[in-house]
Amino acid sequence: MPGKFKTEAVVLRSIRYGEADRILHLFSASRGRISAIAKGVRKPRSRFGGRLEPFFRLDLVLYEGRSDLCTVTSADTIDGHSNLRADGPALGAAARACDAVLRLCDAEEPNPGAYNLLCRYLTILDGSESLAGDGSGDGAAGLATALAFRVKLALATGFAPELAACARCGEPDGLSGFSGSAGGVVCSACEREGFTFSRDAHTFMVEALGHPLAQAPSAGDRTLRQVERAISETVEHHASVQLRAAA
Ligand SMILES: [Zn+2]
Repeated sequence: MPGKFKTEAVVLRSIRYGEADRILHLFSASRGRISAIAKGVRKPRSRFGGRLEPFFRLDLVLYEGRSDLCTVTSADTIDGHSNLRADGPALGAAARACDAVLRLCDAEEPNPGAYNLLCRYLTILDGSESLAGDGSGDGAAGLATALAFRVKLALATGFAPELAACARCGEPDGLSGFSGSAGGVVCSACEREGFTFSRDAHTFMVEALGHPLAQAPSAGDRTLRQVERAISETVEHHASVQLRAAA
């Protein structure tokens, strides 16, 4: 049924279209991924101002007609994340996070867990929420927090790796490998189909899932690269999604 609806949403991507319009890829709280057109947004006196840019969190009214694209009829800023915009590393981390959401949450289906996670990460990157870690980490825009976000996003989208026992045979001990095709950690007997996965990398993933994003565990670069590979291979096998490099 054509008609208007309200939702809050984060702008994942904003593409110039025609003379003055923009096509928006939105991640909304109530409907998941939505594509919308904002007309006249690039005219000097557009009522939308500069609000329809990536990483803005907005209260929107959208019109849904017969086309696949909704039309933005009004937009109010909840958070523009202005600090994030002025910080290169934070901006890069936010762009990679939005890209991961774009790839992993492709359905027009609400996913409050993923939505709240993205909002939380943008807030942390914006610096409005300080990190509660032990200070030894690489900061909000660093690889550890980026990977903690990815582990949690995998969980929220139903692609969390098996971490409690061998994903192939169920063995609870001697978990020394990781297999994307098996979907989790694997024991030494099953390791030939995966890659060597350190205890530190395993611990990082378990702790990332068990703590709020602002308390992401810290780890060395080698450990973090193993974690990144584990998440990438899991979603590649099980969601047919290729994630961009995490940093
Ligand atoms: Zn096994």
